Amino acid sequence: MLGSDQFQRGRSARSTSYDTSQMQRSVLITGGAGFLGSQLCDVYIARDYRVICLDNLSTGRMKNIGHLLDHPNFEFVEHDVIEPFQPSGCIDLIFNMACPASPPKYQSDPIHTFQTSIRGAENMLSLAHKHGARILQASTSEIYGDPEISPQSETYHGNVNTLGPRSCYDEGKRAAETLFYDYRQHYGVDARIARIFNTYGPRMDPGDGRVVSNFVTQVLRGDDITIYGDGSQTRSFCFVDDLIRGLCALIHLPKQPGQPINLGNPEEFTIRQLAEIVIQETQKDARIVYKDLPVDDPRQRRPDISSACEILNWRPEHTLREGLRSTIPYFMAELARNNAPSPIAAQ
Ligand code: NAD
Ligand code: UDP
Repeated sequence: MLGSDQFQRGRSARSTSYDTSQMQRSVLITGGAGFLGSQLCDVYIARDYRVICLDNLSTGRMKNIGHLLDHPNFEFVEHDVIEPFQPSGCIDLIFNMACPASPPKYQSDPIHTFQTSIRGAENMLSLAHKHGARILQASTSEIYGDPEISPQSETYHGNVNTLGPRSCYDEGKRAAETLFYDYRQHYGVDARIARIFNTYGPRMDPGDGRVVSNFVTQVLRGDDITIYGDGSQTRSFCFVDDLIRGLCALIHLPKQPGQPINLGNPEEFTIRQLAEIVIQETQKDARIVYKDLPVDDPRQRRPDISSACEILNWRPEHTLREGLRSTIPYFMAELARNNAPSPIAAQ
């Protein structure tokens, strides 16, 4: 998945007071049992890192990391990032991925979601400070809220409601970015921020309530597709392999970029178009039904990825249709299991 030069560059650029050239490199991945975090675990096990996967299993699943549990370089720790964590041994890299990402999930315990972002970020930043580790924050396009401009570039400050059902996530992620900024300014921590736009692919929980998992599983089950609102709101969907490649490129960039980096696919679709594409790609018939639009649902979202292109030499390689062709068989296999949960609705 990654070019070896990206790893070599990252390694040689790391500054520590000890010589690690003969030592095994270590990565701590919070949220490592989740959709994205588990894919990072695979990448770093394949690269011979010692991988510590920290997760409270609130939205993550052991089945995402089951194949790694017996690996000698892999350690799973059930832990809530709200609490401080002391690893055994040194840490070189930290991916701070812990946080539910699906709106119905993060809204089900909003105070815990908020604390996960803020206390989790602070605990991981202080660990990075102590270990001289490089740390990457999984931030989000949600920090732009309901954007008034399109596409959204990193210089846009956003349009976020502090008082609403999405605020626990949006404001928590915004505050986490501030902590990353201040730890870099005050303590010199090599802290990097990826602003991730809607990403989908294998290992998504079929029941997590996000739009791609909902639409694909609804069609595969023969259920109606549920569009919230009139379906004219837009999103830009990034296939998971592209996103993981971008996260790794960012953390291994030799020089700290000094700004957050948008990572996403700039191809923009209305939610109604997404429903039609899912129906075509699954080659099944499905009826579309319309439900209430959730409060504060952003009307549009499309990343400006010129920074990622210039600084990371990164751009997505998969179209939405190509990504869905890899994702639909995964959901078919998931649904073939007896206990696959039903899609959940927005609250
Ligand atoms: P996910 O829900 O599949 O994974 C999140 C993981 O974090 C889960 O394994 C969960 O159990 C764990 N977790 C949650 N709270 C925790 C806590 N307090 N302590 C320890 N572990 C905790 O979601 P994902 O799509 O893999 O998202 C991963 C990260 O990327 C999140 O931080 C999310 O905000 C960010 N992100 C994702 C997307 C996307 O489209 N997938 C978009 C923007 C940002
Ligand atoms: N959505 C929908 N039907 C669903 C799930 C979501 O129409 O079954 C809409 C949702 O209202 C939003 C978009 O799809 O406009 C993306 O929703 P998702 O929860 O995946 O992520 P968001 O970008 O809103 O955080």
